[in-house]
Amino acid sequence: MDIHEYQAKEILRENGIPVPPGEIAKNSDQAVAIAKNYEFTVVVKAQVHSGGRGKAGGVKLAKTQDDVRKAADDILGMFISGHKVNEVLVTPAEDIDTEAYLGILIDRETQSPVIVVCAEGGIDIEEVAVNNPNSIHKLSIDPRYGLFRHQAYGLARILYQEKDLVKQAVSIIEQLYQAFISSGASMVEINPLISTPTGDVKAIDAKMSIDDSELFKHPKLQSYRDVQAEPRAETMAREAGLSYVKLDGNVGCCVNGAGLAMATMDLVKYYGGDPANFLDIGGSSNPQKVVAALKIITSDPNVEVILFNIFGGITRCDDVAKGIVDALKEIEIKSPIIIRLTGTNEAEGLEILSSAGLSAFTSMDDVVEQAVSETTK
Ligand code: GDP
Ligand code: MN
Repeated sequence: MDIHEYQAKEILRENGIPVPPGEIAKNSDQAVAIAKNYEFTVVVKAQVHSGGRGKAGGVKLAKTQDDVRKAADDILGMFISGHKVNEVLVTPAEDIDTEAYLGILIDRETQSPVIVVCAEGGIDIEEVAVNNPNSIHKLSIDPRYGLFRHQAYGLARILYQEKDLVKQAVSIIEQLYQAFISSGASMVEINPLISTPTGDVKAIDAKMSIDDSELFKHPKLQSYRDVQAEPRAETMAREAGLSYVKLDGNVGCCVNGAGLAMATMDLVKYYGGDPANFLDIGGSSNPQKVVAALKIITSDPNVEVILFNIFGGITRCDDVAKGIVDALKEIEIKSPIIIRLTGTNEAEGLEILSSAGLSAFTSMDDVVEQAVSETTK
């Protein structure tokens, strides 16, 4: 689950990291009212689940009340990488000496958190990664022992030379690691981490994702979910109890079981296709889950064909077949539906399908090859 900058900043503050104050506005009147509490200049910042707001015009410095009103009017309602801006953060502007990058994410290879630092942070970090990759330093942390002071110190020395800045950065790195672990994050990023002309180190931007599987431990973080900002299909999937991940291909996949879903996606690739999604309807799939799954798959305009791969164990083939037939009555599905149905109550399932004019394969190879052949590319 992605959260907004102002929410991530709240978590950083709770962990002791210096972060400028700020409040959220939904319209320009509110933005002006908030700005009056601060000394000018302020920054008006789009709150969307996307980086690159600065380059898109979603971060504006404002020196007067009129500036704030104009900035809020300009930013509210704009789209940044497909995300509509419904709220802005109004925060006092900081004077900046240097901009650095500090992040923590989970490295799949080492299965541990890795801390990433770069002295050249700011909005061009992607270009730095391409043109000067050696300036980006990574340190993998053994989660059993946590982050040691000497490790934090080594990283802080990459960011700053001056002793006092290094000392502040050591604390911030330790606090950020604590924030990362204690909130079950999969990613946290401060970019930029600034130093000011008065010698302070502060986080003026924050980005954070919470691991969905950790959310049950953190009731407060659950309330950070912004359903409006979340892709509609993900909300539908969560509410229906389905695991869904959108991908970029055109073969919509509906499978029971995560392992079979992965194998199905592999096979789609093997036959030259591209999966549009990962979707696991789970073990005991009642017909309503299948209807929900089809609504989600068909809401993706890239989908050209819908592939069902059902291996009935606890899942009953007749339930799935009934779900498909029910869905066809409820929603208009233009794409061909290619089905493999085998296992528990297979005969009953096939009966239900054939009475609705549908048929099914029993072989996984056959069904995937057929589905891929129905796509245009
Ligand atoms: P992003 O583009 O979505 O990463 O948004 P950021 O919050 O990182 O802002 C982008 C850039 O705007 C930063 O790298 C800064 O250069 C600038 N900026 C943001 N906040 C301030 C501020 O308080 N003072 C000044 N001078 N510049 C700021
Ligand atoms: Mn940033």
